[in-house]
Amino acid sequence: MKENFLCPHCRGYLNVGEYIIFSVRNKQGDAGLILLHPEIGNYTVVKHPLFFYDEGEHLEFRCPICHKKLASDVHDNLARIIYIDEKKREYNILFSMVAGEKSTFKMIEDEGKVESFGEHARKYLDILGMR
Ligand SMILES: [Zn+2]
Repeated sequence: MKENFLCPHCRGYLNVGEYIIFSVRNKQGDAGLILLHPEIGNYTVVKHPLFFYDEGEHLEFRCPICHKKLASDVHDNLARIIYIDEKKREYNILFSMVAGEKSTFKMIEDEGKVESFGEHARKYLDILGMR
């Protein structure tokens, strides 16, 4: 696999097949697995039809390998994972854990830059020092 997504805690691979796998808990405390698309800015979500949550619900994302929370220290709504591109460069990826919210950020540490993706990204630009 050319590109990889890793847990920041155990550095286990979160991408399998065509998707990135997360263990998620909804506000009722029910746990389930959800699959997100590895293309940054593609918000396709695959889940079991009997694992429910509402639009706008804050979900808790955990690593399916070590079970640690993937919360970022930037904002309560944003999760953090590691992305390694085909040239083996490593980035932090932040994304919203709020169901239906399309916000993803790719942090380019060397250049002190952040790339934002998704129609709701604007909400977090202040926190990320992007304006
Ligand atoms: Zn882990």
